[in-house]
Amino acid sequence: MQTDLVAALDIGGTKIAGALVDGQGRILVRAQRATPAQEDGETVMRAAEEVLNLLTASPLWSGVRAVGIGSAGPVDAGAGTVSPVNVPGWRGFPLVDRVRAVTGGLPVELIGDGVAIAAAEHWQGAARGHDNALCMVVSTGVGGGLVLGGRLHPGPTGNAGHIGHISVDLDGDLCPCGSRGCVERIASGPNIARRALEGGWRPGSDGDTSAAAVAAAARAGDPVALASFERAAQALAAGIAATATLVEPDIAVVGGGVAKAGDVLFAPLRTALKNYATLSFVQRLTVAPAQMGTDAGLVGAAAAALRESR
Ligand SMILES: [Zn+2]
Repeated sequence: MQTDLVAALDIGGTKIAGALVDGQGRILVRAQRATPAQEDGETVMRAAEEVLNLLTASPLWSGVRAVGIGSAGPVDAGAGTVSPVNVPGWRGFPLVDRVRAVTGGLPVELIGDGVAIAAAEHWQGAARGHDNALCMVVSTGVGGGLVLGGRLHPGPTGNAGHIGHISVDLDGDLCPCGSRGCVERIASGPNIARRALEGGWRPGSDGDTSAAAVAAAARAGDPVALASFERAAQALAAGIAATATLVEPDIAVVGGGVAKAGDVLFAPLRTALKNYATLSFVQRLTVAPAQMGTDAGLVGAAAAALRESR
């Protein structure tokens, strides 16, 4: 019987994914439910319990030693609670206690989803072998996590590395977080699309106004689309440079839907980084695309649980 297994939960605004994962990071059993994000907290919890019940019903469950949760944030790892911005029914929701109740009292490790991505990229992806790394997700929002001194750095509450809400424009637009000029307010997919539309870019006959459509237009040479990606790249570069100056990562890994734009994002990002990361000790910082796919959240939650169980 395998006895080095952990259970992983990846909780987001659209889906709740679960898995049983072995010590090498292989996913052996999967379960998934849509997140009833606009329902009350108990209804959301029932979806999470359905995922967990599918996992506990597996014949492999007896080998599970710990549970790892990567959740949309903010999370409070100390209190064991989550308050995902896009799941209004969960505010200070006692997720750790509720998961422990369903899983027979196993140890439960809670981290933010950005921290989970960093754990996954460090274990098996683009940050492998790097003792100091910043890993980011640029998507509907912008999140991130840190590896420092060879170890995941979740911080006291499990949210450290949340680069999306570093302000890079002092008098910039109000951000939903309450601050101004945040990286996310400039570089997220919806903001890339908004800025392109405001600049006069128009979608094709399919009406697609997503950041992916703006990326396609940029690739075809549309100057407004290119400018919107360049502005996003500037914001990301400023945030990465600030992080590099503070804690000296030698690699910044960038994933998420917006990173799928490839060179449309990475070329201006590398150029802008030269303008903002100027001191000698941050100049060797490299930028790399993420390597973990859609399982990054699960693998990262498993990494956190394995650390707990050892
Ligand atoms: Zn913000």
